[in-house]
Order: sequence, then C-alpha cells, then structure tokens
Amino acid sequence: MAAKTTNKINRIRTFALSLVFIGIFVMYIGIFFRSSPVIMTITMLLGFIFVLSSSAVYFWIGMISTNTVKVECPNCGKITKVLGRVDACMYCDEPLTMDKELEGKEFDPKYNKKINQN
Ligand SMILES: [Zn+2]
Repeated sequence: MAAKTTNKINRIRTFALSLVFIGIFVMYIGIFFRSSPVIMTITMLLGFIFVLSSSAVYFWIGMISTNTVKVECPNCGKITKVLGRVDACMYCDEPLTMDKELEGKEFDPKYNKKINQN
C-alpha cells in the first residue's frame, strides 16, 4: 500500500484537537501584545474563533457518528465505526469496505483463475 489508510472519524478528531491547540496558541501570542490593545483583541478573537470552530467540528463528529456502521474488525477483532463505503479500522488501520461489490471486484479474477486451472 502506497498511502496509509486512517479511520475518517479519527482523522476529523485529530483535526478538531489541532484546532483547539492553534486557538490556544494564537491567544497565547496575544498576551505578548498587551501594549497594543488592537493586536491583542484581534489575536484573542482569532483564537476564540479557532476554539469555537473546533467545538463545531466536535458537534459535526457527533452528527456523523449516528450514520456510521459498527463492525467487528477482521484483523484485530475490535468493534470499529465505518463511515462511508470504504474506511479503515479505528485501532489497527485495516482497510474495511461496506460495499460487497467492491469486495467482489478484487477477488473475482483470482477466483475465476482458480476455477479455470482446475
Ligand atoms: Zn482492526
């Protein structure tokens, strides 16, 4: 595999968490500009917007989570959430598919060859 597969919900969670840190960092920078109230207000507002948007993303994850399908991972045996047609396991990044047709396309040629050889 060329590209590393990661679970979509995990990826969005990491994005939301990084937004919180960016927000705190921007507000922290604002402390150094205490002498100029304009810059301090802008950085505080920007940081606040970042933190706000991260909570919006967390809310969005909650909405998405209701649309996910819980499946048992064939690789590690843990219950994981699958979002969309193809997603990765939350624990071991094993690629999983919800679409039986996609599964069939990958395995059909090998299956046919085996039959022909016999
Ligand atoms: Zn797994």
